[in-house]
Amino acid sequence: MLERSTGGSDTAGIDAWVRPEIRALAAYHVPDATGLVKLDAMENPYTWPDELRREWLRLLHGVDVNRYPDPDAPRLKQRLRQAMSIPEGAGLLLGNGSDELIQMILLTLAQPGRVVLSVDPGFVMYRMIATFVGMDYVGVPLRADDFGLDLPRLLQAIEQQRPAVVFLACPNNPTGNLFGDDQVRAVIEAAPGLVVVDEAYAPFTDTSFLGELGRYPNLLVMRTVSKMGLAGLRLGLLAGPQIWLNEIDKTRLPYNINVLTQVSADFALRHHEVFDRQTRSIREDRARLLEQLAGIPGIRAYPSQANFILLRLPAGRAVEVHVRLRTEGILVKNLHGAHPLLADCLRVTVGQPQENADFLQALRVALAV
Ligand code: PMP
Repeated sequence: MLERSTGGSDTAGIDAWVRPEIRALAAYHVPDATGLVKLDAMENPYTWPDELRREWLRLLHGVDVNRYPDPDAPRLKQRLRQAMSIPEGAGLLLGNGSDELIQMILLTLAQPGRVVLSVDPGFVMYRMIATFVGMDYVGVPLRADDFGLDLPRLLQAIEQQRPAVVFLACPNNPTGNLFGDDQVRAVIEAAPGLVVVDEAYAPFTDTSFLGELGRYPNLLVMRTVSKMGLAGLRLGLLAGPQIWLNEIDKTRLPYNINVLTQVSADFALRHHEVFDRQTRSIREDRARLLEQLAGIPGIRAYPSQANFILLRLPAGRAVEVHVRLRTEGILVKNLHGAHPLLADCLRVTVGQPQENADFLQALRVALAV
């Protein structure tokens, strides 16, 4: 029997029972941003206009939380179909954030020895969730110079590994670039299993694979409302062939989209012009920020189709500059150490104009020291 420890330092039970691959992981770390300009997590920096907020609160006033939510959220699904132009013939599945959809996809496919394949550097949750469900993760390195797909290498890995699923984030996180449409099509055609095109950053670019959905039996397109300005609601969507979604739906916990999220997202999407305006500003400010970063000697700012910019600092400076920015009240993401191709890199989310100006000023100061 497991001895109850009062101290919390007795790890015998932990060592005996926790799966070694979980023991080896570090929990996903979210730094405390209290009092800081928060440019680390690709959030929309804008809140809602007062009138919209008041209307929303009136709506929430009428919501009963004593009942479970509708498990299928048909009204919200209809709203999402319209707002995101999901093709008529495609099925739709909702997740508690797209993170949960990744988990549902992998729960559906997991077997020991099966492979999840993506590109590195890429979105870390593909690898983490593969580990949670006991699958093997294979990350094919992107090209070192521009973070583009190394297509021959990727196709070779697909042939050798026979992955159950390939994830491609378009635009990619943390590099911010899109992959060529033809390259992505080549991956979909070569893959023996599913291909998930993760369009989390769709509001900040003009290309999408939603239009390709009828064309490939193994293609799923994943979206989220997080980056358009609703990160707090936790709502992601997966569009694709209904027969695949029927299977993935079996792994969904019954009431995964809570009633406040259902009502609030439906309300917000009815007013999507507000969010469209905000994302348009973010796109303009991204161009401005890129231009200004290009004028700072010694750093390289990578072009971005997302709401963040990847920066490479002079060798050996990233950790120190990250700390220095934090001291100046600005929180960005340090990527140095996350992957060899990200040596000396930081990632900054495009904020409000004043936040971007403060970041630039603090960066200039940090680099000059
Ligand atoms: N995909 C990508 C590429 C991401 O960068 C993120 C969040 N950073 C997600 C999915 C998850 O988004 P969410 O769970 O908020 O929908």
